[in-house]
Amino acid sequence: MIDTRRRLGTATAILLVAAVIGTVPDGAQAAPADDVTTVVRHKLIEEAVVAADQEMRAAGLADTRVTVTRRDGRAWAFGTAVLVAPQKEGLHPSGWIFIARQQRGDWQVALEGEATFADLAAAAPASVLARGERDAFTTRGTLSANGDYRTGMRLPFALGQSWTLRGGPHGWSGSPRPFSSIDLFGGDQRVLAVRAGTAYTMCKGWIRVVHDRGYTTDYYHLWNNINVDGASVSAGSYLGDTGTDITCGGSASSRHVHLGFRQNGAYVAIATHNLGKWVPREGSTAYEGYALHGSKRVNVGGSLYNYGALGFTEGIVDSYGGTSVSRRSGPGTGYGVVGSIADGATAAIACSSSGTSVTGRWGASTLWNKLTDGTWIPDAYLYTGSANPVNGSC
Ligand SMILES: [Zn+2]
Repeated sequence: MIDTRRRLGTATAILLVAAVIGTVPDGAQAAPADDVTTVVRHKLIEEAVVAADQEMRAAGLADTRVTVTRRDGRAWAFGTAVLVAPQKEGLHPSGWIFIARQQRGDWQVALEGEATFADLAAAAPASVLARGERDAFTTRGTLSANGDYRTGMRLPFALGQSWTLRGGPHGWSGSPRPFSSIDLFGGDQRVLAVRAGTAYTMCKGWIRVVHDRGYTTDYYHLWNNINVDGASVSAGSYLGDTGTDITCGGSASSRHVHLGFRQNGAYVAIATHNLGKWVPREGSTAYEGYALHGSKRVNVGGSLYNYGALGFTEGIVDSYGGTSVSRRSGPGTGYGVVGSIADGATAAIACSSSGTSVTGRWGASTLWNKLTDGTWIPDAYLYTGSANPVNGSC
């Protein structure tokens, strides 16, 4: 089903691009075959004509921003490609990292998310792509749709600060799904990388960081953004300040960071993932929703404390409305209570086993987790980001 739709979309795109090219005014210069920038700009128009936003479909070559940051002779090129948006509410620019190879006079251009992107990344010489970048670009993550929502990410500001959740889950460009993005501001207004990765300046005010597990995060509207082309960043590295920059389109009525969440080259819903031990949840419409830390709920306008990243073998105790969860001596409600663990606490998991069924916020589960202190709690009362064992079976 998905494949069929993709093919139809591509076919439509080719037809529409043909129409666009056909309307180039008389006298316009044909691009030289070796001009990679022109080839990338035309590829951006192919993307524009199938954009979710009606207004983006009207984008022309004047709305493209292609920056070639690296070249290897005439054979390879690398850089960023951005379609700027009108400076209006509910719109945001679209951007991709691209790799291009010239063979027999023709440039083959691949954008992030396309199958050929990984192929070109694997083939690109070291002069164009550093080893760490090649690894990131050729590794696809386990899609969150497959039930693994673990990110290892913190919130995009200093640990121990609390920032305002200005906008709950919404689309990268406002209302259209997936609701990949949230808006935040507060504290010292310094926007920091949510996890280690490789950073790229997509546009003035816009930084993209490519992480492991196929994840990428976008940070938009920044003031004083760093200027980087594949720089290694650590979790917590400074990227810029919250701001109202709309150089590449959209609108920002007051300073904030528009944090966008991508996996395997496309925006994906941010809900159910975890940043800074908070789990965003969608409302019925864009910008609504809330975030959960255990049973603690913060609505839009409320304040999110940055607890730091949840480890891949950790969980947040979520008693589904209570104040604590009983620790038991074995994997089931028939085992004796040997203590309790507070709602919102971080629990380190040693291994997991099946036991009696318990129903929590995320549904019923027979999985039980043995914590590193030897006590057991049901997985139904522990948010790990996965319905499966996260540290093996006991
Ligand atoms: Zn936003």
